[in-house]
Amino acid sequence: MTQEIFTKNEKETRKTAQLLAKEIQKSRRSAVIGLVGELGAGKTTFIKGFAKGLGIKRRLTSPSFVILKKYKNFYHIDCYRLKGSKDILALDFQEIISNPKNTIVIEWAEKIRKILPSYTIWLKFKIISDKEREIKIL
Ligand code: ADP
Ligand code: MG
Repeated sequence: MTQEIFTKNEKETRKTAQLLAKEIQKSRRSAVIGLVGELGAGKTTFIKGFAKGLGIKRRLTSPSFVILKKYKNFYHIDCYRLKGSKDILALDFQEIISNPKNTIVIEWAEKIRKILPSYTIWLKFKIISDKEREIKIL
């Protein structure tokens, strides 16, 4: 089932993410969320709200230069600088996603599509205008 959400500003994107995180937290297997969308589309903003929804108190910063950041059972991965799936496997990726306690959100997830599980939740971000974004849940 596809669902489209339109947000009018950054705060709405964070709020949407926060609610979605609470829903996803109810499921028992590991949650893998793949985010797709151009630079500035709102992926990192979304993840900040998502982390808050999971109860993570620490301020989330963008991992752009490090690929992976871990906050307890929450993992923020940014594939922007990755060439393919191989590099990510070096991060014990399979082990991380096989733990049902873990929640993993991945920016530029299309770059590692091949190694993502079939239950991955795909979110597509689109810039509609200066402040408006479309978030499509696939
Ligand atoms: P990405 O991680 O996709 O590159 P970011 O979340 O880092 O995107 O940046 C999104 C930028 O767009 C921020 O500067 C944010 O303030 C701005 N913005 C404007 N409107 C929105 C919106 N509706 N949702 C999310 N971000 C928005
Ligand atoms: Mg980003």
